[in-house]
Amino acid sequence: MADVANLEQAFERITVTDENDDQLVTTTTYHKSKGSLSTAVSLAGLSSSASAANRMKLPLQKLATANSAKIINAKVTLPSQAAQNRSSDEIPAHGHRRTLTESALYFNPSSPKQWHLGMFEIGKPLGKGKFGRVYLAKERATGFVCALKVLHKSELQQGGVEKQVRREIEIQSHLTHPNILKLFGHFHDSKRVFLILEFAGKGELYKHLRREQRFPEWKAAQYIAQMAAALKYLHKKHVMHRDIKPENILVGIHGEIKISDFGWSVHAPNNRRKTMCGTLDYLPPEMLRGGKENYYSEKVDLWSLGVLTYEFLVGEAPFEDTQVMTQRKITRGEYTVPEFVSLEAKDLIKKLLVLDPEKRIALEDIEKHPWILKHCQKGERAYNRATGGKFRDSSDRDS
Ligand code: ATP
Ligand code: MG
Repeated sequence: MADVANLEQAFERITVTDENDDQLVTTTTYHKSKGSLSTAVSLAGLSSSASAANRMKLPLQKLATANSAKIINAKVTLPSQAAQNRSSDEIPAHGHRRTLTESALYFNPSSPKQWHLGMFEIGKPLGKGKFGRVYLAKERATGFVCALKVLHKSELQQGGVEKQVRREIEIQSHLTHPNILKLFGHFHDSKRVFLILEFAGKGELYKHLRREQRFPEWKAAQYIAQMAAALKYLHKKHVMHRDIKPENILVGIHGEIKISDFGWSVHAPNNRRKTMCGTLDYLPPEMLRGGKENYYSEKVDLWSLGVLTYEFLVGEAPFEDTQVMTQRKITRGEYTVPEFVSLEAKDLIKKLLVLDPEKRIALEDIEKHPWILKHCQKGERAYNRATGGKFRDSSDRDS
């Protein structure tokens, strides 16, 4: 209950400014306001091919947003969310309950709601991205808790990413899966675009990984199984994500993962795409090669899943090095797996990090892989069984 109070506090004494104000929360007053909101939004690091060094810097800045931690780590089931936690059409593949399914936000099949800022109470900032800030928010009418991402149109324009954002909205709003961050809706005023997102109660997976250094095999396997389930869903819809990495994965209140950031994803009905995008460490060889060979399909996500599996288990990406060396290692598929990684896990990594995209293990076969089966039986969390059904993860241990 104390946690609920904590979260409720996050909404206290907050005034939302509307359309005419420059900033969403310029009149916000925080009682524990250590991190006041700066108005400047950095456009630095805009380049899509961020170097390894770039990648390392970002999370440190993110970790410094201390006042979001309170909310993120709060183990809450808000009354509004409890009502929304009932299961629905899709049974999650790996035992994590589906959340937020019957919300007013979500469940509006016939008449899409006309959203505006006044319908939300704005809470604490949850984080800051390249083009905007994300706030905890609550729909006034229902008390439904969500995350509101605020993007400034002028900055999107300057960054030349309007198209990309439009694509992100278009794609993400059609996706409904327990391991994919739900986009409930969007609206805009003259200056800003607002995205109404599912609130991922346990924050960024990247932070969890950095805190724990590397995940135990059971946890890595369960995360990878959830990733595979989400990718299977995406690929069936002919969507490839193309930017799979820990920074783009959030963690839900029950410790389940939520893929976010569809900025680089693309609808691929039949054709193969040729754009360069994503972070170097996670780029598959076919995306690095120039010329005729530089085509790729949704198999790019399988390579990235291999990199992710490795990073979960080892604590760093397999090809991490200088930019030139990383590129060289990727095109040759050169990496070594430390001794402490189990043979089963090594085997899955080997079957994902295959130079020839067509020869990578299929998503259906990942589900049946011995390493996954060992740690995620019958769609139930092995760990969950072992602890008598109590959901636990690292952040539980920390608090
Ligand atoms: P980029 O601009 O490259 O997408 P980013 O992913 O960090 O960077 P945002 O997606 O704008 O940027 O999110 C900023 C931060 O806010 C995230 O890193 C995360 O900590 C937090 N955040 C974003 N969305 C949510 C959410 N739905 N629930 C909880 N926290 C969130
Ligand atoms: Mg993001």
